[in-house]
Amino acid sequence: MNKNEVSKRLQQYGLNKLVEEGKISRLKILLHQFTSPLIYILLVAAVVTALLKEYIDTSVIMAVVTLNAIIGYIQEYRAEQGVRALKKMLIPRARVLRNGKEKEINSEELVPGDIVLLASGTKVPADLRLIRTYELKIEEAMLTGESVPAEKSVAIISEDNLTPGDQKNMAFMGTVVVSGRAKGIVVETGSKTVLGSIAQEVKEIGVTKAPLQKKIENFAKYIGFIVMAASVVLFGIGIIIGESIHDMFMTAVAAAVAAIPEGLPIVVTIAMAIGVARMARQNAIMRKLPAAETLGSTTVICSDKTGTLTKNEMTVRLIYDGEHIYDVSGSGYEPKGEILHDQMSVKAEEKKKHLQVLRIGLLCNESNIYEEDGQYKVDGDPTEGALIVSAMKAGLMPEEEKKHYTQIAIIPFESEHGYMATLHRHGGKKLIFVKGAPEKVLDMCAVSADGDGSQKKEILLIANNFAKEGMRVLAFAYKEAPHDMEEITHHNVGSGLSFAGLQGMIDPPRPESIEAINGCKQAGIRTIMITGDHAVTAVSIAKKLGLGGTDTEVITGKELEVMSDEELFHKVKDVSVYARVSPHHKLRIVQQLKRHGEVVAVTGDGVNDAPALKEAHIGIAMGRTGTDVAKEASDMVLVDDNFASIFNAVREGRILFDNIRKVVFFLIPTGIATIISIIATLILGVPMPYVPTQLLWINIVTNGLQDVALAFEPGEKGIINRPPRDPKEGILSRLLIERTFLVALIISGGVVYNFISALNEGVSIEKARSVAMTTMVFFQFFQAWNSRSEIQSVFRINPLSNLFLFYSMIAAFFAQLAVLYVPALQWVFKTEPLTEMEWVNVGAITVTIIIAVEIDKWIRRRWLLKI
Ligand code: ATP
Repeated sequence: MNKNEVSKRLQQYGLNKLVEEGKISRLKILLHQFTSPLIYILLVAAVVTALLKEYIDTSVIMAVVTLNAIIGYIQEYRAEQGVRALKKMLIPRARVLRNGKEKEINSEELVPGDIVLLASGTKVPADLRLIRTYELKIEEAMLTGESVPAEKSVAIISEDNLTPGDQKNMAFMGTVVVSGRAKGIVVETGSKTVLGSIAQEVKEIGVTKAPLQKKIENFAKYIGFIVMAASVVLFGIGIIIGESIHDMFMTAVAAAVAAIPEGLPIVVTIAMAIGVARMARQNAIMRKLPAAETLGSTTVICSDKTGTLTKNEMTVRLIYDGEHIYDVSGSGYEPKGEILHDQMSVKAEEKKKHLQVLRIGLLCNESNIYEEDGQYKVDGDPTEGALIVSAMKAGLMPEEEKKHYTQIAIIPFESEHGYMATLHRHGGKKLIFVKGAPEKVLDMCAVSADGDGSQKKEILLIANNFAKEGMRVLAFAYKEAPHDMEEITHHNVGSGLSFAGLQGMIDPPRPESIEAINGCKQAGIRTIMITGDHAVTAVSIAKKLGLGGTDTEVITGKELEVMSDEELFHKVKDVSVYARVSPHHKLRIVQQLKRHGEVVAVTGDGVNDAPALKEAHIGIAMGRTGTDVAKEASDMVLVDDNFASIFNAVREGRILFDNIRKVVFFLIPTGIATIISIIATLILGVPMPYVPTQLLWINIVTNGLQDVALAFEPGEKGIINRPPRDPKEGILSRLLIERTFLVALIISGGVVYNFISALNEGVSIEKARSVAMTTMVFFQFFQAWNSRSEIQSVFRINPLSNLFLFYSMIAAFFAQLAVLYVPALQWVFKTEPLTEMEWVNVGAITVTIIIAVEIDKWIRRRWLLKI
């Protein structure tokens, strides 16, 4: 189908998706800003003040409500946009044949008539009439309720009105290919599909909240109730002492507003959104929010080898043809290089044998090599790409060979089987070509002439020697097939093969993986390699990566088969390399690691990796090579399949959690201090240190910007040198609780002291309150700096590393000056300018909070953490 036809059909049939995603509802987000208890309190206060004819207060309260709504709206809208952008990056892809070429497109762009290719792990992207199948099994539980996968074929069915379960020659949108391969023609797309018609009400899964967000919301509510109760008590005490109902009502409302950590849930949501966006920039897309929170406490990362720890750029280096070993020169996928024997070009009479090895590699193959912008690339599996390149280096031309050896049937490669086979027509004969893991292929070969299997042993020894160099080794074999054979099965190819040779290919470790594994070590995170490759190859690569010490122990799938869970439980503590494993072994390894209390992240790409991905705390699917099933089972998708990105995401996870703590540490003590200072003045029998509008000002304007700014903090220097956080540890650590009390006492003490000192100087009550209010604002400035690190000195943190915080402080400072010096604002907020001496007093008292927290940090660094 050409481009024009595709766009015509797209116009006619629409995009291939079930639900049109609605626009972000601005109105909904705006209304949402008015649904918090804080706003209710403020609105009640506005009404009461209006009744009391305190119109200035009413307008300040209304201004605050509006400002709060605007800030909340902007933040929430941007967070929502961020989440949408992430979702777009996760649109599933489909492999199609267009213009006779295979390519990958967004499955939304499929149109009726497209030919779609299915492989195990694919989620069927539209309703398809199957035209070619190989051992195709599809799980259709979501349509039929039947959990046993249905076998499919292309046979014509001539009955009418069949249920989807009986339409064996169809593949339906949303069902999952569990094994095999197929081609099918799209017959229906989007809402016209069977799934579309029964699931009109299928809604996008809403963005779930992370447990932390829920906890914080509850925490904020809980604190809110306590504060409200405290305010009521405050009101009562005031009345008993003889204050006027009017004054006490206003004070109680103001105290409640100032102390309820209303900003907290919003800031946590913002912090989450920032964290998730930063993770996406590091190529890790969060599918589930809770994972963003858990990431920071990861203690073990179980990673695939090929493509994640290594580059997945395979190059054949050695060939064995049963007699000689040959070197292959050249690099990458460019088919330039030579086959050398003892450093010399290969003689013509030697060629025939090794050409057979290379030919099988070239033809028992599903991939292609192509040139783009002067670069050679693989379309398909890099292992197979390397085999095409090595064959071309020996002079075999893919197109020519494919013509002479027409492929009739195929058993595609699946990790579980460990090999692949193809059936070809050549001249008057039919041939079966097989390639795969050496031990597997040799098992399928006829016993050698000597009958005792010593030749096989020798071949395995050579394969082992290749593997010791870190090479992935494949064996090649063939046999003649009966003339009438049209299809092949595992049974057909399982025995009687003739061994042709071996090819060994390198796949260099990614340099950034080596760095990241090292980084993980420093961060107290263990890296475990779980690979389908041979044990010897795995150990060699593990050493190059710096994994698992000098004497690397390795456990193979075979050993795992006979190992009890109990034994494995003891082994997983120390063993960091697992080879020739199948996906169900991966699941067992994850389970046993979890029993040790580890927080486990695990990578996966195949359909059978799904259980392990689900079982792990953080299932990570490969963005490039991962199947739809693996992606759906995962919590996080790695765009670039790169191990280093996991490490970077973990780092971001730690920063995220830290930042939430920073916000808490900023907001809670200042709120508590407000309440304490009001109660203290009441008990001391002096007037209130602030009027309600002043408290609103402090709460919303000066402190409202800084708490959001703290969510933007970059990571602290030593963030990756700390051990992982205990996942059971909540936001409020012991350190934080102790310091909250320290800070709250100092702030309230300082405010009351400055306030009473000013009164004792004989100044007006307005003046004394201006001093108290400015003292509070400056305490909060310093407290924001204090909050930037729990243990690091504030003097060691670059003041410009969080520009948002820096500018928000400057803005808050000028806002405070304006309140004190601009006549209109003086009138509204009942303030007076401060004298120089009063400024000095404010500065001297408020700086004590820095000194106190610095001493506390120093003591903890020195004696408790010993750093
Ligand atoms: P990892 O788990 O580290 O990502 P992997 O998933 O690439 O490794 P498999 O793909 O399961 O591992 O490969 C296991 C073995 O199967 C390889 O060592 C190789 O011998 C053989 N093999 C790999 N790819 C093919 C292929 N396309 N055709 C035939 N045999 C293959």
